[in-house]
Amino acid sequence: VAAAPAELDTQASKLTINLATQLKDVPPAAELKFGQVLTDHMMVAHYDPIHGWSAPEIKPYAPLSIDPASSCLQYATNVFEGMKAYLGPDGTPRLFRPDKNMQRMEMSAGRVALPPFDTNELLKLIKKLVMVEKRWIPTVKGHSLYIRPTIIGTRSSLGVAASDSATLYVIMCPTGPYFRSPRPVNLLAVQEHVRAWPGGTGGYKLALNYAPTFKPQQYAAKLGYDQCLWLLGDKITEAGAMNFFAVVRRDDGDLDVLTPPLDGTILPGITRDSTLALCAAHPSRTTLPGLDPSIRLHTSERELTVPQLAAWADEGRLLEVFSVGTAVVVVAVGRIGFDGKDITLPSYEGSLGPVGRGLYDRLTEIQEGRTEWDNWSVP
Ligand code: PMP
Repeated sequence: VAAAPAELDTQASKLTINLATQLKDVPPAAELKFGQVLTDHMMVAHYDPIHGWSAPEIKPYAPLSIDPASSCLQYATNVFEGMKAYLGPDGTPRLFRPDKNMQRMEMSAGRVALPPFDTNELLKLIKKLVMVEKRWIPTVKGHSLYIRPTIIGTRSSLGVAASDSATLYVIMCPTGPYFRSPRPVNLLAVQEHVRAWPGGTGGYKLALNYAPTFKPQQYAAKLGYDQCLWLLGDKITEAGAMNFFAVVRRDDGDLDVLTPPLDGTILPGITRDSTLALCAAHPSRTTLPGLDPSIRLHTSERELTVPQLAAWADEGRLLEVFSVGTAVVVVAVGRIGFDGKDITLPSYEGSLGPVGRGLYDRLTEIQEGRTEWDNWSVP
């Protein structure tokens, strides 16, 4: 038996494309429910330790055949990414900083010892699949095609060990704005269930980080909150599956834009990184739409606690709290339930405050290719 080469690629040049003979009806944009209607095709490649990666295939969307003893089913070797394709004004589909998703997926797969893959090749395959499914990208503003690259361990053995086999696939669905009404989200701060901890896996996009959040999420919903605010002690980590930001007025009148640091308990969000970069560039390199250029924004990745937020809110210095992520872009937080009480946050017409609104507008302009910024939007 020949040993597989150490580093194996998903080779885009060997791609075969089998198109579906029957295409689905694309639902009207107004009726889209996130994740429910998948497109006509998927991209699939398999890895085994003898042959390495198979030639990738784009083929009609269909169930996968999986051995019941598969590593992904038994031991949660399951990694995913979330990214979007947007239609530019010229009709060209665009991806937003896709290299960042590829990097993160490589890190996540490495964390659960799944086989390595060539991220440049995977990105080429994703672009091919987007072009095959171009008719699925909604043309309505604020809509896009959500892309879910996934890699799962397929070693079929109950032995508790790394998976030496894997399936990498990409599926997609059209999506509208995550929260249709632009109302703020309300968060329940949760202490008794912990999403991530030092030395844990919160900094990686592993399916195993999400399953334990569903029960607390149901509890929060029962109490009338939209999402959990995940804490470690009283330290804020993340809000649902979004990164958390607070805007605080400083004594000199400038604004601090604060978010918790990437200490391993927080997913390094691509919207988070973009938010920090755009705020740091205001007003020297760009001014955020609608935001006074005489206001300076000071970004800082620092520890935030709920009592500290409550104190700033009492002093009238807490101007905005918002969460960011690929799904929502930027969404305002209305109130935070903590210790049986609510911290009520400042409210604004249209829900986002000036910083959040400026970020939302600038990020969506860049994503849709209406404004160029540091090659973030990739045709
Ligand atoms: N935190 C978690 C736990 C997430 O699942 C996501 C969504 N990927 C985010 C934050 C936001 O990350 P991004 O901006 O890359 O979508």
